Amino acid sequence: MKYINFKRVFSAIVLGILVSASVMLSACKSDADLDTRPRVLSTVGMIDDIVKNVGGKYVNAKAIMGPGVDPHLFQASAGDLKSLSEANLILYVGLHLEAKMTDVFEKMASKTKVAAVSSRMPKDRLVSPPEFDGQYDPHVWFDVGLWMHAVEVVRDELSKLDPSHETEFNQNAQDYLSMLEDLDFYVNEMASRVPKSQRVLITAHDAFGYFGRAYGFKVLGLQGISTESEAGTKDVQHLTNYIVKHKIKAIFVESSVPARTIQAVQASVKSKGWNVEIGGELFADAMGKAGTKEGTYDGMVRHNVNTIVGALTGQPIGDEVE
Ligand SMILES: [Zn+2]
Repeated sequence: MKYINFKRVFSAIVLGILVSASVMLSACKSDADLDTRPRVLSTVGMIDDIVKNVGGKYVNAKAIMGPGVDPHLFQASAGDLKSLSEANLILYVGLHLEAKMTDVFEKMASKTKVAAVSSRMPKDRLVSPPEFDGQYDPHVWFDVGLWMHAVEVVRDELSKLDPSHETEFNQNAQDYLSMLEDLDFYVNEMASRVPKSQRVLITAHDAFGYFGRAYGFKVLGLQGISTESEAGTKDVQHLTNYIVKHKIKAIFVESSVPARTIQAVQASVKSKGWNVEIGGELFADAMGKAGTKEGTYDGMVRHNVNTIVGALTGQPIGDEVE
């Protein structure tokens, strides 16, 4: 009779269970865990769009603020903090756009690379409105030419992060920059369809100052540069008088600011005997949903200028011009 070593059989069974358990565990691991590419976390979608295009398949790119999220008020959740602490590179706009994130960025900067994409924009091209107490207007992405400097920052930070793909990053950045040149040209051409006297853009908050300067529109907002302060009745009255006096055809709502503020202006204008249309929704501080045209920077800017020009001229712009 053969001697059976129960201890050995038992260990073999235990080992078998352990091995299959670990195989099952690794099979359960998500793709994200197995992804060894550098993790690049951007605050807003407009930066993430650059990272996805310039980094291509070599980076794992994500934005923490999705569609409709207001960056002025955004505070990082516990989940966001975890993602931020796991990132290899954190990119933000800066100029106090992400006003509630300053401490977080400072903390993260001790262990990972944190960079502001506005850092290389020439100071003389930044706007410092009087109502903003000496600070710069942070909505720099609406001057397409100025936003090109953000692409340079992303390109160079990615090359530092992964020098083995510098050539690809440079090529992709060149392609993206030439796309931006075409876009800049398009916006200029569309803007020129609106008679100079009617080039007035009225929205809920002053996100479009750079847009106005670059493409020749007077911009009036209800809430000032940030959305942190609520619009007062004085502001509504002031805008109402302006709209009635200049017979402005349309005013606009924004995707990341509640519509009620601009609806209050419309009602107030009506009470003075002039009808002003709500010309449509503009994407201001956040892009549209992923997978839609407006979910890209190019699509977002085109949507905005088409909406503005269509409403102010009374001739809607179709897709055919895009
Ligand atoms: Zn804003």
